[in-house]
Amino acid sequence: MLNEAEHYLKQYFGYSSFRPGQGEIIRNLLAQTNTLGILPTGGGKSLCFQIPALMLPGLAVVISPLISLMKDQVDALLAANIDATFINSSLTSQEYQERMNGIRQGHFKLVYAAPERFESESFLEMLNSIDISMIVFDEAHCISQWGHDFRPSYRSVVMNLSKLNKKPVIAALTATATKDVADDIRNLLNITETDSFITGFARDNLAFHIMKGMNKRDFISQFIKKHPNESGIIYTSSRKETDQLYNHLKALNHPVAKYHAGLGEEARKQAQNEFVYDEADIMIATNAFGMGIDKSNVRFVIHYNIPRNIEAYYQEAGRAGRDGEESACYLLFSPQDIQLQKFLIEESNLDFQKREQEYNKLKQMVNYCHTEKCLQSYIIEYFDDNSQMEACGKCSNCKDKREQADITKEALMIFSCIKRMGERFGVTLTAQVLKGSQNKRIKDLRFNELSTYGLLKHYKEKEISDIINYLLAEGYLLLTDSQYPVIKLSEKSLPVLKQQEKLYMKTTIHASVTANEENSDLFATLRALRKKLADQEKVPPYVVFADTALREMSQYYPTAKDEMLRIKGVGQMKYEKYGVFFIEEIKNYMAENKIEMEKRIPEEEQGTPLKNQDKSDVPSYLQSYQFYMDGMSINEIAKARNFSPITIQEHILRAFREGQEINWQEIFDDQTEALILDAVQKVGTEKLKPIKEELPEEIDYFSIKAVLVKNGL
Ligand code: ADP
Ligand code: MG
Repeated sequence: MLNEAEHYLKQYFGYSSFRPGQGEIIRNLLAQTNTLGILPTGGGKSLCFQIPALMLPGLAVVISPLISLMKDQVDALLAANIDATFINSSLTSQEYQERMNGIRQGHFKLVYAAPERFESESFLEMLNSIDISMIVFDEAHCISQWGHDFRPSYRSVVMNLSKLNKKPVIAALTATATKDVADDIRNLLNITETDSFITGFARDNLAFHIMKGMNKRDFISQFIKKHPNESGIIYTSSRKETDQLYNHLKALNHPVAKYHAGLGEEARKQAQNEFVYDEADIMIATNAFGMGIDKSNVRFVIHYNIPRNIEAYYQEAGRAGRDGEESACYLLFSPQDIQLQKFLIEESNLDFQKREQEYNKLKQMVNYCHTEKCLQSYIIEYFDDNSQMEACGKCSNCKDKREQADITKEALMIFSCIKRMGERFGVTLTAQVLKGSQNKRIKDLRFNELSTYGLLKHYKEKEISDIINYLLAEGYLLLTDSQYPVIKLSEKSLPVLKQQEKLYMKTTIHASVTANEENSDLFATLRALRKKLADQEKVPPYVVFADTALREMSQYYPTAKDEMLRIKGVGQMKYEKYGVFFIEEIKNYMAENKIEMEKRIPEEEQGTPLKNQDKSDVPSYLQSYQFYMDGMSINEIAKARNFSPITIQEHILRAFREGQEINWQEIFDDQTEALILDAVQKVGTEKLKPIKEELPEEIDYFSIKAVLVKNGL
């Protein structure tokens, strides 16, 4: 029988051999046995039921969750000369009648229908009047309430099926099923474990990457430039972000389309078509986009924010590389995005138990971002505890060649601190206690009296939370499932506590002895103030103060004029315009958090007194940079300092090389940068003149030099 199936495979679909799992599933269905197939996205689930549908007498009824999905599949079948149709709410009543008649007269081998159809008596009556070869649950995870796309209507089909005179064989197919979901599907549809075919979830052609701590927009813009003419999807977690990113990339002339549920049907359809037909290479979308998109040449999927769970992530990322070609999946991680997902869980109408479950899933998603394991293996083990797979060799963890450092000592301090805090608090507070933070809450709770208070004071607070997150990801610590999860020690920590096991972590962490470190909380407060002032004046925030200035403020807490003027980037002009507001804000912050004055600036550590009368001890290049950051033009600085403009340019670029921040957009735009990089590709970087000659007149030497410096060339 399988030979005959192969014949159909060749004749209708043009393929010469089955992919893993397909043959077994088809054989099973032909033998009239209820069957579950779990094949990865792009694994070829459609053929598993389409071929038996062609071979068996009667009509196959395919339950499918989305109208667009039905249409795509039916179009593909019609193109292969297979008689198929769909019935859903998009039809006029005349079309509906015609199709129902066609079905009665046996014109079709397959009909696609939404699950709600089975609630209609006339539909069931019609089914009872004909021969049915098979009932197919495509995207079968929708049937289970443990799944991430649960649809009650999918589940109620089961009950309505009992109204059929004969019991047709059932096929259930899905790409993403945890063990719970698979058990649920089997129970509901009466499928035995031996009739389940799981080909493994691994996607050999996908390379997974986690990116942390970069500017997301810059990353994406660079990435697109490096991969011209490649098709990709960028998922954001909100419509607003989709719109913003779309506008940003569109302004840079990237070929983008956008899709989210807030757009009209026409706009969505058009965007989808542009993407599918390669008119727009890049689709920026919320998770509303994708189910049912069978575009096989998607070369990359970038997640701009952390998704809500691994199932959703793997399904979305899995839309890359359906054609089997090498493709890449990036997740751009930033911790604050987790808040949005928590908010969505809180806002949902889920009952308590289900909500806990969602928190748990989110937690495992976060762990994915902190593990040092092979990322593909992490995902596979998430779906199936028992499966052991070899490291993929190409994910960002497999490629991470940093040395592992012994963190046993740090881990023991963390364990002990958590214990002393009564296992009742989260990552942030624990890190703050170990850091020895002056935070009011810590004093209120009297954690500053604990013996573990300040034990890791030479580390940055972020480095401490990095280690804690790593210990969570590796299971040495546990986080409770709730909106404000608390850390507890797990059994796995016992051997470490008994000094029987050592712990290692790939890290660039090293204790630093700079006593005065920036306060990220205050920094955020000052940023918000900067945004408010900038909005009032309708200028971009960096025009008010550069990030470096805010960083220094959140490090030194300036509350008087002379102190404020010592901050890099605060000149007389800006002091008068904005300085007072910032002083006010800092004072408020200190009062709220009970930060005492004497704790602030130890005399010897004060910022370089750039703005004092005597500038002689400040390097010349930094003085130029300082003027530049105060808003003076290159020519103005040159005049004031009696240097040539070229020297001033050199000063500014040198300041960047030495670690100062520069707002590049003031010097060149993205398009200019792209042109310059192209020219560099052609003529190299040895001399500037040949580069200049490749470029339009108006691009000057300073832009060229700046692009080279920015890109480390
Ligand atoms: P999914 O499992 O995600 O539903 P599809 O059924 O849409 O996957 O198939 C994905 C792609 O793989 C389609 O382009 C399909 O034509 C192709 N495909 C399916 N089976 C085979 C096969 N045996 N050989 C080659 N290509 C196949
Ligand atoms: Mg499919």
